[in-house]
Amino acid sequence: MAHLKKERTLVVIKPDGVQRSLIGEIIQRYERLGLKLVAMKMTVPTEEHVEAHYTVDPEWFRKTGTKTIEGYKAKGLTPPTEDPVALARGVLNNLKKYLTKSPVVAMVWEGAHAVELVRKLTGGTEPLKSDVGTIRGDYVLDSYQMSDTDGRAVRNLVHASGTPDEAAKEISLWFLPDEIVNYRLVGERILYDVNLDGLLE
Ligand code: ADP
Ligand code: MG
Repeated sequence: MAHLKKERTLVVIKPDGVQRSLIGEIIQRYERLGLKLVAMKMTVPTEEHVEAHYTVDPEWFRKTGTKTIEGYKAKGLTPPTEDPVALARGVLNNLKKYLTKSPVVAMVWEGAHAVELVRKLTGGTEPLKSDVGTIRGDYVLDSYQMSDTDGRAVRNLVHASGTPDEAAKEISLWFLPDEIVNYRLVGERILYDVNLDGLLE
């Protein structure tokens, strides 16, 4: 098995991140944590690509629908439907409209616990409830209530893979193997070297 420091995750800066000139700010958040950028491209996704991306996890419809319904109920609001799959189908249609309207920036980040750490820094799906200090909590103000009122996807700046398995499938959808670069960062030694030999002169 590969060393934990080789874990990879996919991040996509969505149209609102690009249009609000937050590309640099978002990259910096992951970079300063110690993760290594190993692939990056700007592209305009097609609707087919968006559908393929969200359906790599066959459970996505149920999970996303359930999470949304729970979000409504936690606020004492009535969800638009009690059927999670039907709800998530509507979300996917709106995601197709959202993500094809502007370039996005797709990236692969590598490092120990890359998937979990990127999710932590990115914050929860609904910006209204995302923690302060996270990207979605600090830079945007959207909510399910607002996106539903207007019949659109919630705008939360970034996509980040949910699990290492999901990450592997998503990465292969966005990048060819030779677009991902294997290289060493000088600064990585202080994160991963066991003995730290050779630092003192
Ligand atoms: P995450 O991006 O946090 O992993 P999901 O995979 O559940 O969240 O959903 C994918 C994307 O779909 C979200 O980032 C968001 O843009 C949008 N979305 C999810 N749920 C809703 C919803 N109930 N209403 C509108 N948009 C939604
Ligand atoms: Mg997700």
